[in-house]
This record gives sequence, structure tokens and C-alpha cells, in this order.
Amino acid sequence: MMRAIQVTRPGGPEVLGMAELPAPEPGAGEVRIRLEAAGVNYIDIYQRTGLYPLELPFTPGMEGAGVVDAVGAGVTEVSAGARVAYAMSVGSYAEYAVVPAAAVVELPAAVSTRLGAAVFLQGLTAHYLAASTVPLEAGSTALVHAAAGGVGRLLVQIAKRRGATVLATVSTAAKEEMVRALGADHVLEYADFPAATARLTGGAGVDVVYDSVGQATFDGSLAALGRRGCLVSYGQSSGPVTDFQPARLAQGGSLYLTRPTLGDYIADRDELLARCRDLFAWMAAGELDVLIHREYPLAEAGAAHEALASRATTGKLLLIP
Ligand code: NDP
Repeated sequence: MMRAIQVTRPGGPEVLGMAELPAPEPGAGEVRIRLEAAGVNYIDIYQRTGLYPLELPFTPGMEGAGVVDAVGAGVTEVSAGARVAYAMSVGSYAEYAVVPAAAVVELPAAVSTRLGAAVFLQGLTAHYLAASTVPLEAGSTALVHAAAGGVGRLLVQIAKRRGATVLATVSTAAKEEMVRALGADHVLEYADFPAATARLTGGAGVDVVYDSVGQATFDGSLAALGRRGCLVSYGQSSGPVTDFQPARLAQGGSLYLTRPTLGDYIADRDELLARCRDLFAWMAAGELDVLIHREYPLAEAGAAHEALASRATTGKLLLIP
């Protein structure tokens, strides 16, 4: 048996109840991981509320790290005893998780298990956004919303190391100080970020806006783009964007709009491993600052969700089983 969070109906943080469940057994191509940390991500909130519906009941959590303690038939990627992390397989708010072996990556000695859980989903996201969705390079201009958040503070750092000029939005003075220290060139308030972007770019607008806020920023993000710029709408922390006319892309200057998801950018194992190699090498070299904002006992998953939704956090929240 194991302790795990179980959601039996969609709702608020109170639906994250503790349950005693049978420990899962790995099938062919799967491994079981004794979890030492589960990452808390915004997608967990969307799944809990039913915005992204899952079959009930379910154990939330799309990211975890720990030690492989059982291996199914035919697994070649990792062995029992390996220290690993993974993402995009649901069920990490638990003492054990069974995960496809192809999704699991061994952690190098330089990356602790907790930092592995902290960097995995958000780091891979920041990596693909800056390197693949719109490959940033010297001379690129990028606006990053929620720049002190989990994905945001990693995206600022990766955009800077690729040579881009980074404009960043945050909601508080403390968050402003943090993103400046990470290298953001300009820090803006949400209230007037399109006008500030125009001013800072001499009227040209930016090449790309990375928008995880959604409803509250969508119109302004389109307005902040320069000719043939790209709006990367990758999240909806303020609520989903529901109304969009493609003709607005023409009016804005032949703009592009994409709604990417991590699964499509770690679609094969080589791509997953290549992105992890970069992230782990930067961490080992002290070139990527991965911040664990707070660790919560597993039983306090609801409090962790409340904190993430409250805009009071920066960096990563972990649940410790
Ligand atoms: P964050 O740590 O970024 O937390 C959300 C942040 O959004 C807050 O701290 C807050 O920062 C900002 N925000 C602005 N408006 C609101 C609002 N109305 N309510 C709540 N927060 C608001 O979370 P994550 O790093 O886990 O995720 C960030 C976003 O990225 C999410 O939308 C998530 O869904 C998305 N995502 C998408 C992926 C993909 O592949 N498409 C993968 C991973 C994450 P501030 O105070 O500065 O406004």
C-alpha cells in the first residue's frame, strides 16, 4: 500500500484528499519510482478544477523524481536503483508512481533529486520555448510574462544565454528585483506593458511574446509584437483565451500565433535527452539558477495549490511524500 493524493471530483484545493492505495506495479516498458519529490505545476490546477478533464478518480502530479525500485519487462532505458526524474505522466502526488521507461531520465551526480524534480517540467518547457518554438539568438527581442514564476525565471535565463534582449512582466517589486538579477534587460508592469514595449523598442515591438497568463494579457501581447512577430501562448494562469479572430494577425502586422505543449517538444527520447543534457550541464556549471521556493509535505498539496494560484510564489513548489 502507499499514501497518495486522490481527486474524486473536480473542485477547489479541498478536493486534494489523502488516500491509502495499492502501490502500482510496472507493466512491460514501465518502471516504478519510489518518489522523493513531486513538482507542483499549473497544469495540476487545471486538472484539479476540471479545465483539463481527467477520468476520476485520479492521483494528480505530472512530474516527479526518486529512485527506480521495480522494472517491467523489456525496459532498457534505466535500471533498478537509478536516481531519475520524469514529467508528463500523471500520478506523482504519491509515494510511488509507475511511468513509461521512455519518459524517465537518469539524474547526474551534480543534480540532487529535489532539484531534478524542480527543473524537469518547467526547465524542459523553458528550453523548448526559447530554443525550438521561436529559436532566440543574438539580436532577438523577447517579452516574457510572469517572469519570476516557475517557467518564467528559467525562460529569462535561457533567453539571455541565447543572446536575446529580454523584457519581463512581474507583479511585485520583490519579483522585479529577482528577474533583474537573473538578467532581464527591462522589467515592466502588467498595467501598461504594450506601451512600455513600444517605447523600449523604438516603436518596433518585440519579435516574440511568451504568454503564460492568457486571458488577462492576450490582447496586450498581440499589441506588443512587431511586424511578423510571434505570440507564443503557452498557458492561462489568469483564465483561458476564448475569443480570437485570425484577421487580428493581419491587422497586427502578419503576426504568428502558436499554442505549444511540452509533449510535442519531447516527442521522442532523443529530443528529451538532448534538452535534459543542456539543463543538467548548465546546472552543474552553476549557469542555471533553479529555485525551490518551498517544500510541502504531501498531505499539504491543497496549500501548495493555493499558494501557486495566489501569485505569491516564485520558482518551484515541491511536495515531499
Ligand atoms: P508560475 O510559477 O508561473 O505561476 C503563475 C504566475 O502567473 C504567478 O506567479 C503570477 O506571476 C502569474 N499570473 C498572472 N496573472 C495571474 C492570475 N490571474 N492568477 C494566477 N497567476 C497569475 O506557474 P508555472 O511556472 O507552473 O506555470 C506557468 C504557466 O506556464 C502556466 O500557465 C502553465 O499552464 C504554463 N505551462 C505551459 C506549458 C506548456 O508546454 N504549454 C508547460 C508548463 C507550464 P506575477 O505575480 O508575476 O503575475
